[in-house]
Amino acid sequence: MQVNGERLWADLMSLGQIGAGQAGGHDRQALCDADGDARRLFMHWCRQAGLSLTVDAMGNIFARREGTDPSLPPVLAGSHLDTQATGGRFDGPLGVLGALEAVRTLNDAGIATRRAIEVVNWTNEEGCRFFPGLMGSAVFTGALALEQAHAATDRAGRRFGEELRRIGFLGEAPMGGRPVDTYLELHIEQGPLLERVGVTIGAVTQSCWSAMLDVAVTGQNSHIQSTPMPQRRNALYGAALLIAAVERCGYAHAPDGTASTVVIDAWPNNRIVLPHLVTLSFGLVCETEATRTAMLAEIDAAMARIGAETGLGFETRLRRLRDPFHFDAALVAATEQAAQALGHSVMRMRTRPGHDAFNMSTVCPTELIFVPCRDGLSHNEAEWCEPVHCAAGASVLAAVMLERANR
Ligand SMILES: [Zn+2]
Repeated sequence: MQVNGERLWADLMSLGQIGAGQAGGHDRQALCDADGDARRLFMHWCRQAGLSLTVDAMGNIFARREGTDPSLPPVLAGSHLDTQATGGRFDGPLGVLGALEAVRTLNDAGIATRRAIEVVNWTNEEGCRFFPGLMGSAVFTGALALEQAHAATDRAGRRFGEELRRIGFLGEAPMGGRPVDTYLELHIEQGPLLERVGVTIGAVTQSCWSAMLDVAVTGQNSHIQSTPMPQRRNALYGAALLIAAVERCGYAHAPDGTASTVVIDAWPNNRIVLPHLVTLSFGLVCETEATRTAMLAEIDAAMARIGAETGLGFETRLRRLRDPFHFDAALVAATEQAAQALGHSVMRMRTRPGHDAFNMSTVCPTELIFVPCRDGLSHNEAEWCEPVHCAAGASVLAAVMLERANR
């Protein structure tokens, strides 16, 4: 089972023309015009491959290749076409177009399968414009209510549901609630491990422990030019100390634990008034639960210390606490066997980033298949995956897909 690597690469590069960013990558955030264009190009390719298309009320797109027994639950494979504001050409599209290429390869070989195969594009995996991420798969699997997803707003106040309708992808297919036999997702690793050890395929066993918190730092407005230093209660100063403490906590626990602050807003955010309110968000990911507990306690202690020193208030809100999702042992083994049969080096590994495979693992046997990316760089326009690695990953995906679809 070898896919047509040149065809896959040509598609990745064609899709790469849509929503082009400033530096060779993408700004194709969920439900922007470019997301709509990318979806329409993907659907065009699916029709060319003879697949039948459905879109649900989250805008998730399913492209189905019928099986010889249509009554059996299908094998799903895919990922997402949306990107970060500074996104690359592979994070997401490789999993969608790799699955499409696997299906085309079955078509070319004239292979029928018992179960149907569906290539899926999940809506808003990235979660940068509308929180939370993994949104399309979360609603599909029942982890998030449809109404709640539709009510999410971006920073400009636009609603998810209205934007979905605006780009023409508020579909009518039933929302989830149907059995799925298997879910497979091909993705770039987004970290440096595979490249460092020179291995082509990662068979992902599980995810890690993570946390995401919002913090509100409160002080007092006063005149920046006249307020004596001992009287100042500058919320931005407290935020700066906390940002440094979070980052230091990450360094102290690396490589097991990582932590950084990523979002900050200040009020009133002008040059003449000391800010009374600063909100920030930080996230951490850990290999063990004990590390997560320790890091959260250290950051809590840092906040108490900074509060005592500065007279500022700190209020935290836990946005997400995520324990590991475990992937299917038989599928991990099948991925290893497929890679070996195709002559590719393979290793078992964990994922630190989140993927739609997390949600799918709660409803069916699921596997995430990794390939290396240059310097482990992702969520960056320079993100790069070698053509041979794209083809190798898609070939492994195709082999596992075929095996599962014939069960
Ligand atoms: Zn992704």
